[in-house]
Amino acid sequence: MRIVLLGAPGSGKGTQSQRLMQQEHIPQISTGDLLRAAVAGGTELGRKAREAMDGGRLVADELVLGLIRERLAEPDTRRGFILDGFPRNLAQAQALDRLLATLRQPLDAVVQLEVDYGELVRRISGRRTCADCGRVFNVSTASAEVSQSAPCAQSGAPHRLIQRPDDNEATVTERLRVYEEQTRPLIEFYRARGLLRVIDAEGRVEEVTQRLEQALHASAGRRAARTAAASSRKPRSPGRSTPSRKGASRRTTSSASGSKRKPSVRTTRTPDKNEPARRAPGKTRTGSRRSARRERP
Ligand SMILES: [Zn+2]
Repeated sequence: MRIVLLGAPGSGKGTQSQRLMQQEHIPQISTGDLLRAAVAGGTELGRKAREAMDGGRLVADELVLGLIRERLAEPDTRRGFILDGFPRNLAQAQALDRLLATLRQPLDAVVQLEVDYGELVRRISGRRTCADCGRVFNVSTASAEVSQSAPCAQSGAPHRLIQRPDDNEATVTERLRVYEEQTRPLIEFYRARGLLRVIDAEGRVEEVTQRLEQALHASAGRRAARTAAASSRKPRSPGRSTPSRKGASRRTTSSASGSKRKPSVRTTRTPDKNEPARRAPGKTRTGSRRSARRERP
């Protein structure tokens, strides 16, 4: 099963990839890991990647695609893979599509993990990283308290939790805006190809994994674009033990998510319309976005 997981920062993509990898016995292919390994290994692609990174540039898509191509030649990917960190925009999705077609390893499903905007902000702002061992905890969840209390594997003392600069609230808002702007169009791209499944990614980790498995296995065997396109609009398994609010939002995921996300996009793209008089001319876009967000109920 060849899968791409899509989800905003904080949607739990990393956690779910890990769990899926174990359950489906397929490798997770992280482009970040591939890049780091290539640079460390000093391969030709690795040297080019290092040049780009040292120069403060983004690593070119062709280079990342080259790494993915190399990785997919390894035997453990025959059963499938979970692609993580790529594609992040439409151009990358199209390039990936061409590569996978050439390799005759087309995607089976693209699963979008849907999480409410406010919840995303809460989750990322709650992230703390241990300065000694690098483990990531979340102060906004109860289960974190239990795991935090175990001694640090590195220091033997309690974990030393710090908040990474990336996870402070201003940066989170900016990361979500970038996701919104660049990654959202992918959803339509994959929907049009009949590959998209949307799942409610709020709630307990185990529940989300269960929904993920259901979405994947429901799609296996019926790949016809028509069926798939229809199924992405109407999930086959209506709410298990989820509260009715969530069940309702899941039933109309595409339209609900559209309207749910709109405020952040709208305040980003046309901030002037929202508060024409109050904005000082020199104010940064980030500033206006943050204040707009705070004003929302
Ligand atoms: Zn630690």
